[in-house]
Amino acid sequence: MATIEFLGGAGTVTGSKFLVEAGGRRLLVDCGLYQGLKALRLRNWAPLPVDPRSIDGVVLTHGHIDHTGYLPRLFRDGFEGPVYATRATADLLRILLPDSGHLQEEEAAYHNKRGTSKHTPALPLYTAEEGLKAAEQVKGVGYGEPVSLWSGVRVRFRRAGHILGSAIVTVEVGEGAAPRQVVFSGDLGRYGAPILPDPSPLGEADEVVVESTYGDRRHDPEPIAAQLERVITRAVARGGAIIVPAFAIGRTQELMFHLAGLEKAGRIPTLRTYVDSPMAIEATEIYCAQPEDFEGDMRTMVMDRNCPLHCGDFHLARAPEESKAINTIRGPVLIISASGMATGGRVLHHLRVRLPDPKTTVLLVGYQAVGTRGRLLQGGAKTLKMFGEEVRVRAHVETVHGLSAHADADGLVRWLRTAARPPKRVYIVHGDPAPAKALAARVTGELGWPATVPAYRDRLALD
Ligand SMILES: [Zn+2]
Repeated sequence: MATIEFLGGAGTVTGSKFLVEAGGRRLLVDCGLYQGLKALRLRNWAPLPVDPRSIDGVVLTHGHIDHTGYLPRLFRDGFEGPVYATRATADLLRILLPDSGHLQEEEAAYHNKRGTSKHTPALPLYTAEEGLKAAEQVKGVGYGEPVSLWSGVRVRFRRAGHILGSAIVTVEVGEGAAPRQVVFSGDLGRYGAPILPDPSPLGEADEVVVESTYGDRRHDPEPIAAQLERVITRAVARGGAIIVPAFAIGRTQELMFHLAGLEKAGRIPTLRTYVDSPMAIEATEIYCAQPEDFEGDMRTMVMDRNCPLHCGDFHLARAPEESKAINTIRGPVLIISASGMATGGRVLHHLRVRLPDPKTTVLLVGYQAVGTRGRLLQGGAKTLKMFGEEVRVRAHVETVHGLSAHADADGLVRWLRTAARPPKRVYIVHGDPAPAKALAARVTGELGWPATVPAYRDRLALD
């Protein structure tokens, strides 16, 4: 009897881990880190409910840390099996997992300095070196290539359109003419978004495990380019810097794509632009190295060395000195820098210098979680605490909606409708309780298929 156990991404958007057991073998689909609320983060530190040594293999849907960031810990705790992902995901992990380890080490060092941990010394969940070692174990395979993991279990990756390398994963269990097919959506991209192709059709499936991040929402219908044009035009008229706190992977590249398009069409002036994030720069290089993964127009442009991920007057800041030099630039300048919610990273230095200037515009392009500096700015905060001081906010704060890498509720239902036949059951995962429930209601109401919102550690039979 085959089973699936939900070890993460159940009732929450982080920590994705789904254990498929069949024929006495165990396959873990995604190996994500919990982020956000403390009660969830503590699960990263508790032993995994299943002994890592008993897991035979891992497949990863895409590179984001909430789907991959537990992998170094799995190795440290004795896992020895193979790990498969798409080629681009394997490449991205070589920058993402060491970076995640680096952040863990920084956090431990911070607690040791302040004496704020119960443990002395506080230790990182894993180190940057362990992150790199884990990433080096990931075998990259092509989209559509069937991979036989062991007798009776095969997997296949298809395009999910979420970030570079992202995949819908079909796990095929059993031999003979009619194997059981379990399809994992991973994170699904938006239909009609630039850069990456639309999600592949769902196809044949007995069971579907689908994400529900925006299971109860519709994205803003106003085109992103039009929103950006309006905001940038106003900001240029003010004459100061435009600071964009942005996530290094996905969001930064999509923003560059839109800005380059607006500049070419003469809808905004050519802006002096700085990407001030070593990780965003490396990620963009990985993006541009895999044109075969892009949708048609984009592929042609990159192949012609006319990469639309770089706009007109474009500069990269890798070294800290280059980053500091940006502070002295007067007049309109666009600065894109991590982190996306201004919780840390180089963007804080730019904000500290520029927030007191009423000519400055802060442009928020992603979801801003409660309690972050990004959210406080969005809420009209008059001062912001950083580096132990209160910084006055006289800058204008603008938000552009819809630069999300996730399908909205209509997009999720549209993808489910591409199933070749009604599946036996749909499991709704990777969503907070309300969106997950809302999507389940649409699956049963509009599609007439049985839907379940599994809870953490639910173990359900697949037959
Ligand atoms: Zn993701």
